[in-house]
Amino acid sequence: MEKVIGIDLGTTNSAVAFVDPFTGKGECISNKEGSNLTASAVCFQNREEVMIGNTARDCKIIYPDTTVTLVKRLMGTEKVAAIIDEKEYSPQQVSALILKSLKEDAENELEQKIKKVVITVPAYFDSNRRQATMEAAVQAGFEVLDLLDEPVAALYHADTIKNHAGKTVLIFDLGGGTLDLVCARVTEEAIDEIVISGDNYCGGSDWDNALIEYIKTTYLKNIDLDAAAEQELANKAEMAKKALSKKNEIKFTVMTGNGRKEIKITREEFENCTEKLLNRAMTVLEDMKETLIEKGIDHLDQIILCGGATRMPQIEQGIAEIYPDVEIFGKDRDQAVAKGAAIYAEAFVKEKQPTVKRESKVSTIKKLNRVTSRSYGIVAFIGDNERKVCNMILQNSQLPAIQEEVFYTHYDNQKQVSIEVFESAANNYYEEISEALEIGKCFLDIDGNIPQHSPIIVSMRLEENGMLYIHGYEESGNTEVTAHMQTQALLSEDDLIIEKQQVDDIYVKVV
Ligand code: AMP
Repeated sequence: MEKVIGIDLGTTNSAVAFVDPFTGKGECISNKEGSNLTASAVCFQNREEVMIGNTARDCKIIYPDTTVTLVKRLMGTEKVAAIIDEKEYSPQQVSALILKSLKEDAENELEQKIKKVVITVPAYFDSNRRQATMEAAVQAGFEVLDLLDEPVAALYHADTIKNHAGKTVLIFDLGGGTLDLVCARVTEEAIDEIVISGDNYCGGSDWDNALIEYIKTTYLKNIDLDAAAEQELANKAEMAKKALSKKNEIKFTVMTGNGRKEIKITREEFENCTEKLLNRAMTVLEDMKETLIEKGIDHLDQIILCGGATRMPQIEQGIAEIYPDVEIFGKDRDQAVAKGAAIYAEAFVKEKQPTVKRESKVSTIKKLNRVTSRSYGIVAFIGDNERKVCNMILQNSQLPAIQEEVFYTHYDNQKQVSIEVFESAANNYYEEISEALEIGKCFLDIDGNIPQHSPIIVSMRLEENGMLYIHGYEESGNTEVTAHMQTQALLSEDDLIIEKQQVDDIYVKVV
């Protein structure tokens, strides 16, 4: 039987899991170093010799310039992750090396070639980042069954420990790089997402950076650190942060130009210097609470914690202040996402290929009913000079989501309108173009001479698989245009219609 796996491609650590056929539960696979967690680190000796994982992370102190960590933060950007022997490596290429290493670990353990995978991404990842993750997976030789939101994966895992049917749960996932929240209603048959929220720039590594800054300004004033000393300080700060989750005080030494300096940090000092980050995370939770109340959800049955950074006591305290009477569940915080991804992968194969016999006990796996974590709209003039994104499908709409709006031509005898499609994290009707991400564009030709402010009917349909369909229609000349674009996964050239033409504009939106 062909095995399928789940991968949690994390900012600091990654994990790979499969489903134990006898228990139906997710199990993590050990890497070559015997650990279930593989540091998301790549250390290049040169183009041919590359170390991946925990050894690579530890080598950062010796090779700070050629060791790449936190590459997930660069995914979906144009940034270069590394330059080795004058060759540039994109974030996708570096991530592909990590994925390839996890693939090999799975193949060793499961004693067969592995192709099919579910990879998790932050629920709050935008289309570019999702697409970059797909590209990395394809480069690593995978066939991606689906990209699954990390908190939802954690819920799939928790649901195999104890059935959550009838419960409304909130998953609070604070990993190395991102904060990700999902609230869902669980039934016997399905997981129904209700609200997704998060922050792509709030994770454990930000707490490390705040502590490093505090140590530098308090203990290392006027001391220049070389690259090795900087790296040692970064490692020690992360260790201190972890220790302070258990202890009230920690002492350690760091390298300075002319010797070593002793440093003592109390939990109180740590919490003071990271207070802004805690507030930032808790604001996301408070906003989500408000959105949930607007949707009529004022009671949660359980909050599931996942991601290593939720071990900081300040996180649980902060959550308990916002949701004082809700049970908090925090088992298996580092591995829940990979295990849940493996469970979902099995369910996915079972549902899509029902004739292929699966030996695992996954027949009861629940269907996932998604909401969109982003809003989708098109650009139009608001007044004569101001162009904005007019969101048609709003964040947290249930999928599939369908919306139709009427726009108007900008001037007399306009021959064409451009329909520029944008994605944004805003939940408002209007969004600044600079705050949104263009994901595609199509053009509607107009037949005949029509006056200014003639109606253009635009409809949008966002499917559960992330495919966004656009239709534009001009009635008097009976012309139309259709286009589709993928918001979650890899684009084929045929998928995205981008024509390099002069852009004419759509005028003012009817509210
Ligand atoms: P993950 O992406 O779930 O592997 O989370 C990694 C983040 O969790 C890193 O920033 C770690 O430093 C952090 N982390 C792991 N264990 C602890 C702990 N005991 N206390 C505080 N942070 C931790």
